[in-house]
Amino acid sequence: MRGMNVPEKSAADVLAAPVQFLPGVGPRRAETLARLGLHTAADVLFLFPRSYQDFSRLRSVSQLVEGDLQTVTGTVEEFEARGTDSGKCILGVLVRDDEGGFLRAIWFNQPTMQERFARGQRVSMSGKPKLNGLFWEMAHPVVTPLADDERNPEGQLLPVYPLTEGIKQWQLRRIVRGALDQCAGALEEVFPEAYLKEHDLWPIRQALPEVHFPSDADNLARARRRFVYQELFILQLGLALRRAQQRASRRAPALETTAKIDARIRRLFPFELTAGQKAAIAEIAADLAQPVAMNRLLQGDVGSGKTVVAAYAMLVAVAHGHQAVLMAPTEVLAQQHSLTLERLLAGSQVRIASLVGGLSAGARQETLARIAAGEADLIVGTQAVIQEDVAFAKLALVVIDEQHKFGVRQRATLRRAGDDPHYLVMTATPIPRTVTMTLFGDLDVSTLRDAPPGRQPVKTYLADETKRAKWWDFFSRKLREGRQGYVVTPLVDESDQTPAVSVEETYEALVNGPLEAFRVGLIHGRMTSAEKDAVMEDFRAGRLQALVCTSVVEVGVDVPNATLMTIEDGQRFGLAQLHQLRGRISRGSHPGFCTVFANPTSDESRKRLDAFVSTTDGFQLAQVDFELRGPGELFGTKQHGLPPMRIADLTRDGEVLDESRRDALALVASDPGLARDEHALLRRMVVARYGKVLELGDVG
Ligand code: ADP
Ligand code: MG
Repeated sequence: MRGMNVPEKSAADVLAAPVQFLPGVGPRRAETLARLGLHTAADVLFLFPRSYQDFSRLRSVSQLVEGDLQTVTGTVEEFEARGTDSGKCILGVLVRDDEGGFLRAIWFNQPTMQERFARGQRVSMSGKPKLNGLFWEMAHPVVTPLADDERNPEGQLLPVYPLTEGIKQWQLRRIVRGALDQCAGALEEVFPEAYLKEHDLWPIRQALPEVHFPSDADNLARARRRFVYQELFILQLGLALRRAQQRASRRAPALETTAKIDARIRRLFPFELTAGQKAAIAEIAADLAQPVAMNRLLQGDVGSGKTVVAAYAMLVAVAHGHQAVLMAPTEVLAQQHSLTLERLLAGSQVRIASLVGGLSAGARQETLARIAAGEADLIVGTQAVIQEDVAFAKLALVVIDEQHKFGVRQRATLRRAGDDPHYLVMTATPIPRTVTMTLFGDLDVSTLRDAPPGRQPVKTYLADETKRAKWWDFFSRKLREGRQGYVVTPLVDESDQTPAVSVEETYEALVNGPLEAFRVGLIHGRMTSAEKDAVMEDFRAGRLQALVCTSVVEVGVDVPNATLMTIEDGQRFGLAQLHQLRGRISRGSHPGFCTVFANPTSDESRKRLDAFVSTTDGFQLAQVDFELRGPGELFGTKQHGLPPMRIADLTRDGEVLDESRRDALALVASDPGLARDEHALLRRMVVARYGKVLELGDVG
């Protein structure tokens, strides 16, 4: 069969042929398809349906029962729009099914609806029918125009593709069908036959037609699985290759954690490390001991104690006479880290340099000179400042705190000489496991799941205006007992339709009202970093009892005595942000109380807030957030650099992801570089799709 029609063409030519040469496509239609990103036959073949239309509840008119949702297919006999006395318009469409039964579909006041019909047009109508005298009627059914050859989709699932103007669903279905008929024979199998068997995957020639036009739901599931697996496997191969290459090319100083070094560092910590911290430290120490750059993500829920782990790693570097740098996303956090380290290392020889706002030009120059001369061991600052200005004498470790905005491709670029440094990236935004394995898939991951002992739970309330007086009473009582609290307002965006109350206004209202008896501080965006630091320091030291601020306190800020959190306009915060804010008050030995005042404006914001109130588990919230927002937010963005998934859905394909990742790692271990002949096609596919974003260089 194969090649009979086109004996002179190779398989690759058939697949690469412009869409214009597919059955039913000419130059005009080709332009329309181009707008959908479909240029070649292969593009059409691998245009996976967005969803499927289920015709399994298909009825002929004579089988209809009143009230249930059912679908009838037939031909449009006639249609008529007429006005009523009261000025309304009614459209009636008469459809004749294949047995000669009639169904009347009606629409009220949808004048443009009739443009969708033509006499003799095949359609399906889905809705709840009613018997009106002798005739069955459906009001406002869902109409789907069908191709002439889609006469009898009994029990079928029909694909639903993304559309663009100028092409209809049935037309695109027909083009895909044509492409399958013409080109399916040219499809090349990427997986060796034994591999397919072993992994329970359908061969491509069996799977592709079924994924477009499934014969039933089971077959669809198996066909879909094959492509989901393939897509995730190719990505995981890319990530594994990247890792292998980085291992081979990035030399870093080998920093062994001897028993003596370990004892000296642990002595500094005023508490026993948690089991999670110990495990993470062991993993990091093992990485640092290798002459290859570490690339590790440390994730842990807010308050799980990541800073200590980072401090440990940095001190290992310092013990070997190297420098380590800690970078934070905000000034407030950089300042806090620098204080934490100074306290921790008060009695030691370690020299800390901090590059935070408020330094005079002279002091800053001097600090930079010390770092360049190797006269500073630990360097702390914001990511922006450090990436821009600093030249290091002997940098061995880079720690990036609160890194959640970037993915696979992003790594700090630092000015340095000699070997690569080791990298430790920390995030408190719990990331759904499936996302960690893809966007951060080239990193090793350590996770802190347990909080330090003695932590009290936080109670969370969702409140409206009627609860304000009660909350401020409670808030005041706790302040009198010696606790501290935050009041957080969203950042006001100039373009907002319904402006939120600004942080200044909130502050004014509180100090002249419910909190007038207390020492209240304010941090707002137009303050200099020195001013912010001063206020933060007063709050940390307990000189201020309450702090009114925007979400600058969202990341990292650690004041264990603060146990009260008020969030204003809660609907304006994302779930991760809300969780971060609540994380500010779960750090000490007193229970925390968080109240969110909110007017949910959409279904999504209501779901977000409900989820927030229902659990304090960051990993669970991350999963909900991911499901609500969808992967679109993560993939295909400039930040992350990875192209969007075509068929896999990380919210539901977690198991296949695990499997594909395991298999990809095993394959790259057995055939580094995918050099063996039977892997040539796989290698080509990986390079074609991910070679550039993953900088796979000369593989293949
Ligand atoms: P995060 O992981 O959110 O960055 P931090 O590193 O700021 O958390 O730690 C939160 C608080 O917990 C800090 O006050 C820190 O001193 C304290 N802490 C960290 N580890 C422990 C521990 N093992 N035992 C007791 N307290 C700890
Ligand atoms: Mg932190």
